[in-house]
Amino acid sequence: MHELSVTENIIKICTEEAVKHKVTAVKCINLQIGELSGLIPKCIQYYFDIASKGTPIEGALLNVEKIPVEINCVCCGYEGRLIKDKYNCPQCGSYDVKIIRGREFLIKSMEVD
Ligand SMILES: [Zn+2]
Repeated sequence: MHELSVTENIIKICTEEAVKHKVTAVKCINLQIGELSGLIPKCIQYYFDIASKGTPIEGALLNVEKIPVEINCVCCGYEGRLIKDKYNCPQCGSYDVKIIRGREFLIKSMEVD
C-alpha cells in the first residue's frame, strides 16, 4: 500500500504542475527512487495508470532512476557506496555508519508533448 500513497502524491503534484503550465498531455515523468525506499517501480506504474485516469497526466510513462545507497562512516570518515548486500563500512568494516543517500523519492521532471 506504500506505493499507492506515493503514487497519489505523484499524481497530485504533477497534475498541479500540468494545470499551472496549461499542459494537456504528459509523455513521461522522471522519478528518482532510492534503493532503500522499498518502492517497486512496476507497482507505482500500475497504480498510476489507474489513479491518473481523467487527469491531464493520464497515460504518462514513469521513468524511474534508482539511487544507490551511500553511507558516511562514523569511524573512518568513508563516504560512498556500500558493497552489495553488506551494511558495514567497506573501508574499515565498522557498522557505525550513517545512510546519506538511498532513501529519497523525487520527482525530477516531466516531459510534455
Ligand atoms: Zn569506516
